[in-house]
Amino acid sequence: MALFKPENVEDFYEIEEVLGSGHFGQVRKVCERTSRTHWAGKFLKIRKTACSRLGLDRTSVEREVEILQILHHPNIVALKDVFESRSEVVLILELVSGGELFDFIAEKENLLECEAIEFLKQILEGLKFMHKNNIAHFDLKPENIMLSDKGSSHPNIKLIDFGLAHHFCQGEEYRSTSGTPQYIAPEMISDEPLSTAADMWSIGVITYILLSGLSPFQGETDEETLKNVIATNYQFNKHYFSMTSSMAKDFIVKLLIKNPNERMTAEECLIHPWIKPITRIQVDKRNRSSINMRSFKKFNAKRKWKMSYNMVLMCNRLVSLRLPCTSSSNPDPLQRQCESDTEETESKPASLLRRRLSSSS
Ligand code: ATP
Repeated sequence: MALFKPENVEDFYEIEEVLGSGHFGQVRKVCERTSRTHWAGKFLKIRKTACSRLGLDRTSVEREVEILQILHHPNIVALKDVFESRSEVVLILELVSGGELFDFIAEKENLLECEAIEFLKQILEGLKFMHKNNIAHFDLKPENIMLSDKGSSHPNIKLIDFGLAHHFCQGEEYRSTSGTPQYIAPEMISDEPLSTAADMWSIGVITYILLSGLSPFQGETDEETLKNVIATNYQFNKHYFSMTSSMAKDFIVKLLIKNPNERMTAEECLIHPWIKPITRIQVDKRNRSSINMRSFKKFNAKRKWKMSYNMVLMCNRLVSLRLPCTSSSNPDPLQRQCESDTEETESKPASLLRRRLSSSS
């Protein structure tokens, strides 16, 4: 178990602007006082008592920390340090400064499948490593796929947010219904025992969106989306997939399978001909196919709008609770409580919707 340092984080790091917000706290840029190096500080509110509904359980933070300590991989965010006070735990993480992959792609005019695959390969490499270590992420979605530095000619993928991740023990049966409706695997919704295969479902959904700008199971409401997932009800709309190769569709088909045991693993994905072509014809097919940029840009704009809308909703709820809500223009460390003090009052399925405010569904 990691050492949760009891010292005050501000004795070692200067707290700077907000980089992002999650359901239980904020992520801020921090500067190490001795080295002047920048990191990301993830400030998580901890429940004061076992029966309190505010903040996170300390054991779930311990789990996130334990998992991050195992995962040393170029495509996974690195953990440097952990500080703890009475009401808060601060994770000092590698600073991922290139923003979200989807935002980076949305800025482009065109993108060939072979270029998109370079990013997908890195996601799969990170997952392969995670799964080999019996760890599942369980919250893969565009918001959690970031780039280390978008200025570089080959930006590096970094998977973030291991708040729902799980480290499987030998023979363990683990269930969880937490996640984001658009990306969640059917076995999660039906509360069946989970495995790393649930992440592979999310990769199928993310790839589908990346190529077409459509979300395969998106309904009018979360309930409708969840129903579509359970029914594995999706198709390749000709209009949106007109520029997509048959190999890409085959890749998705082999992931969006209801039975988790029949889905491709990350290792198998990496040797699928769409990712690793063998023949000249396969290489040519990838080079001739492109992603549906017009539709993708629309999807991403809508996703960002919904994220902002949800953030406003969350802040309004805080205001009604008379709790302070910080903005990036006010980096006062005394006002770090944004989001983590909200009470979740939604029902059915409770933990699924627990994360909905941060979702783009
Ligand atoms: P959620 O409730 O959505 O699961 P969370 O509380 O677990 O969120 P994260 O998802 O880890 O928090 O982080 C929230 C946001 O902060 C991210 O979407 C991202 O924008 C930003 N962020 C997280 N980690 C880093 C990092 N290492 N470097 C830069 N920005 C980061």
